[in-house]
Amino acid sequence: MSRDVRRNRAQGFATRAIHLGYDPAEHDGALTPPIYMTSTYALESAEQGAAIFRGEEPGYVYGRTKNPTQAILEERLASLEGAEAGMTAASGMGAISSVMLTLLSPGDEVVIDHTLYGNTFALFTQGLTKLGITARPADFTRPETLADKISERTKVVFFETPANPNLRVIDIAEVSRLAHRVGAKVVVDNTFATPVLQRPIEFGADIVVHSGTKYLGGHGDLLAGIVVGSADMVKQVRGSGLRWMTGATLSPFNCFLMLRGLKTLEVRVERHAASALKVARELERHPRIASISYPGLESFPQFDLAQRQMAGSGGGLISFELDGGLETGMAFMNHLSLITRAVSLGDAETLIQHPASMTHAVVSRDDRLRHGISDGLLRLSIGLENVDDILDDLDQALSAL
Ligand SMILES: *Cc1c(COP(=O)(O)O)cnc(C)c1O
Repeated sequence: MSRDVRRNRAQGFATRAIHLGYDPAEHDGALTPPIYMTSTYALESAEQGAAIFRGEEPGYVYGRTKNPTQAILEERLASLEGAEAGMTAASGMGAISSVMLTLLSPGDEVVIDHTLYGNTFALFTQGLTKLGITARPADFTRPETLADKISERTKVVFFETPANPNLRVIDIAEVSRLAHRVGAKVVVDNTFATPVLQRPIEFGADIVVHSGTKYLGGHGDLLAGIVVGSADMVKQVRGSGLRWMTGATLSPFNCFLMLRGLKTLEVRVERHAASALKVARELERHPRIASISYPGLESFPQFDLAQRQMAGSGGGLISFELDGGLETGMAFMNHLSLITRAVSLGDAETLIQHPASMTHAVVSRDDRLRHGISDGLLRLSIGLENVDDILDDLDQALSAL
């Protein structure tokens, strides 16, 4: 198979996740991309070094901004998200902060959705405020209310869909349309849906970020972040955000692990989502469940939008509350035996956590309640175990209450 054939973007998602951007013939036939563990690069001449630094010649000079193992991963991720270019970072927070420090200046405003991953919410409301950047939270599930918040001062509109942890779904096309009217950039955190189910750029978003720690890595063994967008935008984020603002570079070894994870991304996400739908249907029927949020259930408030935007799938996460609130929720978590009490998500293992005391503890209680994160809410990340075993464990823990 020639390299030209391999670079053809018309190939299917899984094929590109396995092959794109790598030709074994260029690496002594090695099936798997080599890990370039190097911090710096030998330059052929002083003149060549200067030309690379000036951006007049392609090439590698220093590991904080570029590495050949990373380059394969970045090309692959960009293709999977339908973007021109990609950049990796040391964590999801490293990716998001590299983008924001590139796009924003003192006096600028950011409009953010109410519900964000706890530390992202803290970045906007506690971190960037120190630099004179104002964050305006809004309810993005009601785009008609955004007209009041988005103004000429708005430089960035940021949201997650489905949102962490309550899985609210946001209309990417509609919010992008409103943001672009004032020239704001739309940045979407696509961690929960993954590009298997949803590619925000196809709906009008400008930049997509990820915590690659979750489904993209998929095995609970690395931290990573991703940024994809136009070639020009990614060049800016790499050249300032990553290069001299955060320095949050992904290690070549973690690039290798993520390349390995990507090979099974499509089959994993399909299995996560099929099992999650079965579990959500069972939980919804259980008398001890007070409320449940899963985008693939007909009872989900934005079911039609979720179906349209997420390729007819609900994804792999479920949020729910038991009838006794927090106390019952904690007792339930302690009765589980197969399901692991842990933050993070998207791993082979089914994980459960309590957002109010864990991932969203950095958000004030008032803000949490305003944002639909009740004290008793539990978040379940459905793993790749046999679904009957997941169901049995949930059942025995519910019966033990
Ligand atoms: C985990 C998470 C992040 C942060 O990513 P890290 O890799 O932990 O830094 C950002 N957004 C969402 C939606 C997440 O779940």
